[in-house]
Amino acid sequence: MAVVGGGVIGLSVAWAAARAGFSVSVHDLGSPHAGSRVAGGMLAPVAEAWHGEETVTAQGVEALSRWPDFAAALGVELFNKGTITVGTSPGDLADLRRIVGLFNNSEVELLNNRAIRQLEPSLGPAVRGGMFVPGDLAVDNRQLLSALRKACVEAGVTFDSTVDGRVVVIAAGAWSGSLHPALKDVIRPVKGEILRLSWRPGTLPPPTHTIRGSVSGRSVYLVPRKDGVVVGATQYEAGFDTDVTVAGVRDLLRDAETVLPGIAEYALTEAAVGFRAGSPDNVPVVRWLEPGVIAATGHHRNGLLLAPHTAALVVELLKGGSS
Ligand SMILES: Cc1cc2nc3c(=O)[nH]c(=O)nc-3n(C[C@H](O)[C@H](O)[C@H](O)COP(=O)(O)OP(=O)(O)OC[C@H]3O[C@@H](n4cnc5c(N)ncnc54)[C@H](O)[C@@H]3O)c2cc1C
Repeated sequence: MAVVGGGVIGLSVAWAAARAGFSVSVHDLGSPHAGSRVAGGMLAPVAEAWHGEETVTAQGVEALSRWPDFAAALGVELFNKGTITVGTSPGDLADLRRIVGLFNNSEVELLNNRAIRQLEPSLGPAVRGGMFVPGDLAVDNRQLLSALRKACVEAGVTFDSTVDGRVVVIAAGAWSGSLHPALKDVIRPVKGEILRLSWRPGTLPPPTHTIRGSVSGRSVYLVPRKDGVVVGATQYEAGFDTDVTVAGVRDLLRDAETVLPGIAEYALTEAAVGFRAGSPDNVPVVRWLEPGVIAATGHHRNGLLLAPHTAALVVELLKGGSS
């Protein structure tokens, strides 16, 4: 079989299929704007939960349960201190109370201002309270991609420039819409800008938790890395526009600094644009499109999180035949 797309979805599918006994090749155009390359790395279905997206949340929770084994098999380290979601206005705190209501107490805890600062002492004065999700995870997405490529090679996957296989899996993220008529009006690019900041000697250490915040109605997140943080992300319907805009960088830095003032002393090492693969209901498209062609795309904001879940689904489809 041939997998078109070598992002986290294509590689996870290829690795799982090779381990299930299929002969697999992967074809990738090497876009620097692949979502998998620029992503923040949150594995956070609970902190990302929202009313009306119950299917997305349920899939995410299922996928999260696969991550400890998935990461261990790849030799990838997980950040397991959980997510803190902070609010800076009474409206934000009301939103958080609504999210807490969707889950039980072991999954999510509402915290007052004092309690949240005990977890993350360097939060800024504008933070008024928040919620703690102890079970959320995070991963360094670039470390993950390297580990997946290595695992694929070890499992016998080849990396080819021509697509040749009895079955083709379309896993080309935001670009999938141009690869099959059934995906044409279904998958669209959703642009996102994201920043990478590095710790410098003498500055505060990176946060120990993933921190999400709402500032002036905009959401921002800071995902810890060993040497700094990833700050994301804007979200626009702008087609395949690859420019990093002044307004995008300004808003991300201002909002991140409001949540965690210490990052002002960090080095800004990268500003990048990536594309999420949007679908009409934000639910991924993982199914046979026609005999011999499977789609594994449309993972929008959650492709890293959902990768082991989607890979298992595609192997089930392959074993069941092209129904
Ligand atoms: C700013 C940003 C932050 C994000 N943060 C998170 C996060 O914290 N957690 C999370 O779970 N998700 C996050 N996401 C979403 C996640 O990155 C995507 O859902 C995921 O990367 C999708 O993976 P993919 O393999 O489907 O697509 P991609 O990673 O986009 O990969 C598609 C690949 O297909 C290749 N390709 C395209 N056209 C062709 C072709 N014709 N032939 C061959 N190859 C082709 C490209 O070169 C590319 O490598 C984020 C996304 C963005 C943009």
